[in-house]
Amino acid sequence: MTVLLPSGETVPALGMGTWKMAEDPSRRDAEIAALRAGLDLSLTLVDTAEMYGSGASEELVGEALGDRRDEVFLVSKVLPSHASAAGTVRACEASLRRLGTDRLDLYLLHWRGSVPFAETLEGFAALLEAGKIRHWGVSNLDLGDMQELTALSDACQTNQILYNLSRRGPEHDLLPWQVSAGIPVMAYSPVEQGRLLGSPALAAVAARHDATPAQAALAWVLRRPQVCAIPKAGTVEHVRENAQAVELALTAEDLAELDRAFPPPQGPSPLEML
Ligand code: NDP
Repeated sequence: MTVLLPSGETVPALGMGTWKMAEDPSRRDAEIAALRAGLDLSLTLVDTAEMYGSGASEELVGEALGDRRDEVFLVSKVLPSHASAAGTVRACEASLRRLGTDRLDLYLLHWRGSVPFAETLEGFAALLEAGKIRHWGVSNLDLGDMQELTALSDACQTNQILYNLSRRGPEHDLLPWQVSAGIPVMAYSPVEQGRLLGSPALAAVAARHDATPAQAALAWVLRRPQVCAIPKAGTVEHVRENAQAVELALTAEDLAELDRAFPPPQGPSPLEML
């Protein structure tokens, strides 16, 4: 299961997030083992950010990748406060050092701040030119922001947004717009940081497939074409469980039951973020 980027490249629809990794030294070995197990299971889309643990997540990702860097489509993000033309370049260079690599596959503006898009795009252009990033994209941009951005450039590869069963707002306008514009959605917090997993409706649907609630929640996000999901799992067990979600095809009956428990949006709503 893959997603097609505007560049023509495909990436796995299921990847791995890394927010809150590297915060507890006693969990470090398990987190590194989890990421390595994910690579073995083809979860080679790996998401991090300079913000996560103030760089500690990127260092952990670098250690986990080791000599397997070339297997991975590596994504990191620049903070809006660093996103001037020169600041973007500096922030990326620092991320590359922490990750122990010479290039990012995708570099995202983490959310929109006070720096005009044109200045951040200048920074991205310099990084592309220098071969330090292969592509760029954005995160947490609503429809109006995306329309403004895409009027400046047609090279944006993704908008990474909060999307899961309990956060369906983007289905009203942003998600269909992105699909028609050919810009895939990267769904973050796809299991709502674990809060979704106690849902009785999700448990009932999962049980029908002999699956777990996490697998059903991920399969629900992945049911749409051109949407990828980047769950964070801190143990090998959770990674193995999540990796199987790509095998799970929810039925019309499952989707209807989940619609009753988690109603789709009836109109526009502000884009939520975590
Ligand atoms: P997720 O929805 O991925 O949830 C992560 C939590 O779910 C962890 O506590 C994890 O526990 C638990 N979990 C994962 N798999 C299972 C499983 N199979 N069974 C039970 N529990 C499970 O939340 P995140 O907020 O981490 O989002 C994912 C990624 O998206 C982030 O890590 C980050 O890379 C990105 N992100 C981007 C944002 C942005 O602004 N662009 C904002 C937020 C996230 P455990 O660790 O014990 O496995």
